[in-house]
Amino acid sequence: SLEVRDLDMAYGELQVLKQISLKVEPGTVTCVIGPSGSGKSTLLRCLNRLVEPKAGDILLDGESILAMKPEKLRRRVGMVFQHFNLFPNHTAIENVMLALTRIKGMAGSQARHLAEAQLSEVGLAARADYRPSRLSGGQQQRVAIARALAMEPEVILFDEVTSALDPELVKGVLNLMADLGRRGMTMIVVTHEMGFARKVADQVAFMDEGRIVEVGPPAEIFDAPKSPRLKQFLAEVL
Ligand code: ATP
Ligand code: MG
Repeated sequence: SLEVRDLDMAYGELQVLKQISLKVEPGTVTCVIGPSGSGKSTLLRCLNRLVEPKAGDILLDGESILAMKPEKLRRRVGMVFQHFNLFPNHTAIENVMLALTRIKGMAGSQARHLAEAQLSEVGLAARADYRPSRLSGGQQQRVAIARALAMEPEVILFDEVTSALDPELVKGVLNLMADLGRRGMTMIVVTHEMGFARKVADQVAFMDEGRIVEVGPPAEIFDAPKSPRLKQFLAEVL
């Protein structure tokens, strides 16, 4: 499991995460919702150690990730971003392979084999030799997801992975993610897609001003919100 304990994080003087605690069970999907600037991306960045928290701890199967070597952590915690972050000068399959050869130290032939399989998983076998610039946004996002999956992480973090996509491409990527969830991938998904959160999440965490204000199963969060702030947020987005 992944457990966040009393996490505080600041950018200089700006306190961005305040006493965040959250527990994520293996094989579950946690959706994080909340207004812009509430700290959702910062929370994910702490979980992947792209930024260092000021206080608190993050435990992965009981082991503090703050004491872990970043390379080891990258293998165990995958991340998919809004803007894909693919290498533009490499093909789809090379993008997936690079993670395997560089981070996992896998031999090239084995990495190619695995990358091919992973690209087929996400429906992109036929585009393996295309560079990102020749792929649609949805296809690029699938490559990014395949790259994260190929590492066989224990948890995958998704940060608004559909918000830069054209509307007609959103559904395909959300379906792919829902599928991963059904297959038992442990996922933390920051999203503005309330329909996805309601349907796919095991738990939903609502953040506001650096705090988790409310957390619970989607039926509670969406149909019986307790805090005024969550009620107001839902009234604005639903
Ligand atoms: P959004 O929904 O718009 O993506 P968010 O919930 O992901 O918002 P964060 O990106 O975590 O919010 O930002 C939380 C706060 O931290 C904001 O006030 C933001 O301005 C600030 N912030 C984010 N990144 C940095 C940074 N690199 N340096 C300084 N302040 C930052
Ligand atoms: Mg964000």
